[in-house]
Amino acid sequence: MHRNLALELIGRLTLEVAPVSRPAVLAASTPPAAKRGSGDPLDSRPRGRRYLSTYQLLVAVAAGALAATVAHAQQRAANSVPEIPGLPQAARTAAASIDAEKIRAHVRFLSLDLLEGRGPGTRGGELAAEYIATQFALAGVEPAGDNGTYFQRVPLVAVHTVEDKTKFSFVPAQGEPINLVYGAEIVSKDQTGQPAADIDAPIVFVGYGIHAPEYNWDDYAGADGKEIDLKGKIALVIVNEPPSNDEKFFKGQALTYYGRWTYKYEEAARRGAIGVLIVHRTDLASYGWEVVRNSQAVEKSYLQGDPSATLRASAWIQHDVAQRLFTLAGLGDLDQAIDRAGKAGAFHAVELPVKLRAHIESRVRRYVSSNVVGRVAGVSSANQAVIYTAHYDHLGIDPDAKGDNIYNGAADNGTGCGILLELARAFAQSSVRPTHAVYFAAVTAEEQGLLGSQFLGMHPPIPAGHFTLDLNYDMLLPIGIPRSVNLDGAERIDFWPTVKRVAKAFDLALLPDPDPSAGHYYRSDHFSLARAGIPAFSVDQGELFERRTPEWGRAQSEDYVAHHYHQPSDEYRPDWDFRGNAKLARFGFVLGWLASAQPKLVEWRSGDEFEPARKASHSASPQ
Ligand SMILES: [Zn+2]
Repeated sequence: MHRNLALELIGRLTLEVAPVSRPAVLAASTPPAAKRGSGDPLDSRPRGRRYLSTYQLLVAVAAGALAATVAHAQQRAANSVPEIPGLPQAARTAAASIDAEKIRAHVRFLSLDLLEGRGPGTRGGELAAEYIATQFALAGVEPAGDNGTYFQRVPLVAVHTVEDKTKFSFVPAQGEPINLVYGAEIVSKDQTGQPAADIDAPIVFVGYGIHAPEYNWDDYAGADGKEIDLKGKIALVIVNEPPSNDEKFFKGQALTYYGRWTYKYEEAARRGAIGVLIVHRTDLASYGWEVVRNSQAVEKSYLQGDPSATLRASAWIQHDVAQRLFTLAGLGDLDQAIDRAGKAGAFHAVELPVKLRAHIESRVRRYVSSNVVGRVAGVSSANQAVIYTAHYDHLGIDPDAKGDNIYNGAADNGTGCGILLELARAFAQSSVRPTHAVYFAAVTAEEQGLLGSQFLGMHPPIPAGHFTLDLNYDMLLPIGIPRSVNLDGAERIDFWPTVKRVAKAFDLALLPDPDPSAGHYYRSDHFSLARAGIPAFSVDQGELFERRTPEWGRAQSEDYVAHHYHQPSDEYRPDWDFRGNAKLARFGFVLGWLASAQPKLVEWRSGDEFEPARKASHSASPQ
């Protein structure tokens, strides 16, 4: 039996009854205690008292074991979870029970080859979901999915463009059309999941394709100041967002959601466009055309019936092709147009005298995967809750690859799942309840574009406006005890002062995002819940580790990204050190506990981009 399971058993018994002589207690305590050397209760037995009866001896041994283990548990609590105002001792003990070796066991299992890379809708993905649900059940976590189960069914559709049957061309009002080479010059997906589509529609250049009233910015305004008509048309947009060094204008160098390509698709679709051509330029995208091309060479999944995924052509075109289109339309130099489009007041949307003509064929696969959702009740019956999230899906198996073709996803995101499961167990088995309910969601199809969490945000187990906080865990390399955290986005919410206080108590430095222009906040599952208005951020470790140089931490993460990230070699390693995962789980436990205990819901700071969604969720379902 594992040492900490013994501690839990004994901990529970001390709460329920006075010192006991039940054989079960001895059975539970003796073997682990015996391993501890000087802590062995048999060592502390007074010598020279051989006249004790067997019964007395049993009682003495049991009491000794209890005293030693309780003292040991308290010592551990003191070591691993700092004293924090507002955190009851029993909650501190529950947080301290979070066990690095249990996280290891979950990560090891979830990343076995047997799980086949946990692709959504595959046998391995189903096994992973069943494992997580079983662990919830064993820990005493209630089901919070569909119809009293742990599972929330997520209907998905996978689309693969059939390259040799798909044709795109630019057709001018007069003159020769330009036929595009699929893959080298254009890539596209039909988001609607129909097997075939034909397009013959005018192209409208809308600059960066951004409508941002808070920055007094509207790329959809024509020369006459009116919104240009996009119904049934194709939007031509530039990747990224207007360049800025001004914090008050598109957040300076940081990428806002307006710069993400997903936003551009959504905004044009909202305006009735049937297609979007994103102009790729390597410096603006921060990655080359190869990345675009490779990411589109495989099938891409969408939520079935997603109202924001209605484009028949969600496409990227290569920079030189866009220049040829510009020349065909008589618009001159593309790069000069890109410069103008980034300056306030210098750009107007314009319809080109060129149409996009296309025939698109897609291979379509409909399937279902599940989010796994559990719940621990709080003291209050008020309909309010904290939620923890981590995605359990990964990339599955690549049947075309030679050699090892299983994407085990041990770090990505076996680690987040192990942390989520230990959090769930610690809350469920805590001797005191949190103030309000706590939900735990292992979400699917993250690697397909945050789809499981998007579905969860659209169909939350309680109204979105009643969730006070989401903490997400995604890919935490188990390489030691972190001394810094990345909590990108935590500064956007009014819970931030508490976050800072708790981080300090845990000896975790808060370092700024090393690369704000990458827009990390929009790339993990917490973002899906933020879009539903829920204050949300991911708990991630920084590069500072105990007894290591900062350079060492950076080298580890660079090595992982270069050699293992999204590769079959992201495998479980027996020499991994899970104490850091446990530390960040305890840190998140305390944050969740304190958020739950707050009389008021956590909110976005005023003026934040997610504040309107939060307000809408509150008025849709008042507290
Ligand atoms: Zn990933």
